Amino acid sequence: MRELGNNYVKSLKESATLKMNDKAKKMIRDSIDVVNLAGGEPNFDTPKKIKDATIQALNEGKTHYVASGMIPELRQGITEKLQRENKITIDPSQLILTPGGKYSLFLCMQALLNPEDEVIIVAPAWVSYESMITLSGATPVFLELSEEDNFTLTKEKLLSVTTEHTKLVIVCSPSNPTGHDLSKDELDALEAYILETKIHVLVDEMYEHIIYGHKHTSLAARKNIQDYVISVFGFSKGYAMTGWRMGYITASKENIEYMNKVYSHSITCVNQFIQYGGVVALNCYDDIERMRQAYQRRRDFFISGLNAIDGVEASNPDGAFYAWVKFDGFQDSDAISDFLLENAHVASVSGKAFSPSDTNHVRFSFAASDEELEKAVTRIKQAIENR
Ligand code: PMP
Ligand code: GLU
Repeated sequence: MRELGNNYVKSLKESATLKMNDKAKKMIRDSIDVVNLAGGEPNFDTPKKIKDATIQALNEGKTHYVASGMIPELRQGITEKLQRENKITIDPSQLILTPGGKYSLFLCMQALLNPEDEVIIVAPAWVSYESMITLSGATPVFLELSEEDNFTLTKEKLLSVTTEHTKLVIVCSPSNPTGHDLSKDELDALEAYILETKIHVLVDEMYEHIIYGHKHTSLAARKNIQDYVISVFGFSKGYAMTGWRMGYITASKENIEYMNKVYSHSITCVNQFIQYGGVVALNCYDDIERMRQAYQRRRDFFISGLNAIDGVEASNPDGAFYAWVKFDGFQDSDAISDFLLENAHVASVSGKAFSPSDTNHVRFSFAASDEELEKAVTRIKQAIENR
């Protein structure tokens, strides 16, 4: 047999977040009472206004291919949203709508990278960047930031892992998994890095709306470096629309052109009728705020509950809905998440999945009900005390 199997695919790891989420869901189906804090997914339903607009569009026969991938109302709506909320000025043509933010990122790696390129991943980082880079043939290089200095990103740290092959830096703000949101000093550092090296920076802003106590700022708002910045946003998290699969990417005209070529041969467009829901979502400020407040309350409760357990330490995230939590006395981070699943029936994701040299963290999602979070804290406390 002439065997098939792409060599880049052979070296890929399965998504650790999805794997753990699936494992926990299977245990729940087998009637094991697991609190699933592994996958990062809002436990809220999509706001009704968004669903109503989509149903109406479906009933009106909006069931066709969409020219240039996006209905004009959504292209215009997102262009205005970027101006209004992110202070990013673009021409509407500088936008691509994708099935989930995940495909925006994938498209970027496929369209912009070559096998000799290196991509710096600012870590702890979401699990899929590494695999997407590997699939493009390029090489991922981790810049692992430390919790001791609050995951602060500086130009010097970036330069320390930059080589002549570096083509892109990926940073997530607010971050999955740490919740760290880039400060003004860090945005200044990224700007200085770009001006010095002329290297592009991709900012994953998937969690822009889930932010506590301050306002999120976008790097691409800085006009002098805008062409070097690629920004990814999504509907999944802030609007509670994970299953709809809608995200978007904006970049310079030249980079969008490369991505459009890949898009036209792979996606064609996102479902026409759900795009009408997307138009309404862009103005659902009350719903965003209602959910944000719930996450903030859960964050406060969950983080303080965990910190009250001996040998467990967690800092308050600035944004997103993840807790990056340190546990003392375990062999490695896989051992922590295995222990918690077996002994507390609480599902988390091992820190190693986000930062290769991590040995003592797990990530919990606190996008769960208050009852589940309360149960999780009680069970973790008991399991650690009985260990
Ligand atoms: N970026 C980050 C940091 C994420 O956590 C996720 C969630 N899976 C994505 C991108 C992709 O989001 P989506 O579900 O819209 O594909
Ligand atoms: N982004 C979520 C997470 O980190 C969903 C799962 C995934 O796509 O990785 O858990």
